[in-house]
Amino acid sequence: MQFKEVIGQEKLKYHLIDTFRAGRTAHAQIFLGTEGSGQLALALAYAQYLLCENQGENDSCGQCNACKKVHKYIHPDLHFSYPTIGTGKISTDFVKDWREILNETGPYLSVMQWLQKMGAENQQGNITKNECVDIARKFSFTKVEGRFKIMILWMPEFLEKEGNRLLKLIEEPEPETVFILVAERQEKILNTILSRCQLVKLSQPSDEEITARLLRDQNLNENQARQIAFLSEGNYTKAVQMATDGTADSDLSTLFADWLRACYLGRENMVHWVEYFNSGKHPTDEKLKPISIGRKEQILFLQYGLFFLRELTQLKLNPQGQSRLSQAEQKTAMGLIKLLSIAQIDKIVSLFDDTIYFVERNASGKILFMDASLQIHRLFKPLP
Ligand SMILES: [Zn+2]
Repeated sequence: MQFKEVIGQEKLKYHLIDTFRAGRTAHAQIFLGTEGSGQLALALAYAQYLLCENQGENDSCGQCNACKKVHKYIHPDLHFSYPTIGTGKISTDFVKDWREILNETGPYLSVMQWLQKMGAENQQGNITKNECVDIARKFSFTKVEGRFKIMILWMPEFLEKEGNRLLKLIEEPEPETVFILVAERQEKILNTILSRCQLVKLSQPSDEEITARLLRDQNLNENQARQIAFLSEGNYTKAVQMATDGTADSDLSTLFADWLRACYLGRENMVHWVEYFNSGKHPTDEKLKPISIGRKEQILFLQYGLFFLRELTQLKLNPQGQSRLSQAEQKTAMGLIKLLSIAQIDKIVSLFDDTIYFVERNASGKILFMDASLQIHRLFKPLP
């Protein structure tokens, strides 16, 4: 993994390279970010940079023997530790699965995906006492070929008090050892460990960065990539899951524009739209393609609606400002801008929030969306 493969995080990349060049590489660091921010990717790129035989100014070379070994997760000076299942197990017992999932899924990996890969079903992951002993053992090896000996410990949240066995390694490190803990939740990390490590905080990738990466790596058009990027809320792991589970196929923006139009027109237009949205088949318009909308898609649809309304508010406040809407969406927005005041848009926002709440609690979609349609209709056309 090279730095250029890590989405965004430019400042941190610069910082990591800069401290290395200044001879100030920290012995123990925690790379912290929410799921899908890329902390494991950054840790791997950093490890590759430190081990590379031919470092460039901004990145590892990607070509030398060391880079190739890191790329295959088999460099003898790069060790991994991660949660495992089963009593007394250690990471080495699952190293084949670990390499496989990194090769297949890549480092934008969720804990859930990893537990599934090991066949955990309902078992919790754990970093065991035996694993902590094994980490210390690995640190006692001399370097094989690199300039550094590196341990990437993924998810220190899974260390229980056994984690205190690692304190000595963190506090009195051997020379040229780098210990990188890769975490999502600061409050779940042992304080004793947290206070002894340098904290490297990742930000979430932006919608634009996620869109660009989806366009490069997934088979999506621009509109689909953009739609998924904002629904993923800065979580690239979630974005990739959505790109592959069919979310991209539903054209939420057209469906949403049709709904608002039906709400504006009222009566049978609303009834027909709700029928279409719930059964997947339009009662009168044969040309409309059948859709499949389950509970999950209903929530995505409303989340999309919230995004659209946020952008609509921005357009209303600042008509010349930058908009994240596509051309087709802007057309819908321009039609609505004269019809709705900011206060009315706010009402629709709370209506969507409430509707999401009830969809999550298994209320009937048909009733919820009929009720929401009537409320929106009344905002367009108040009773005299
Ligand atoms: Zn290299």
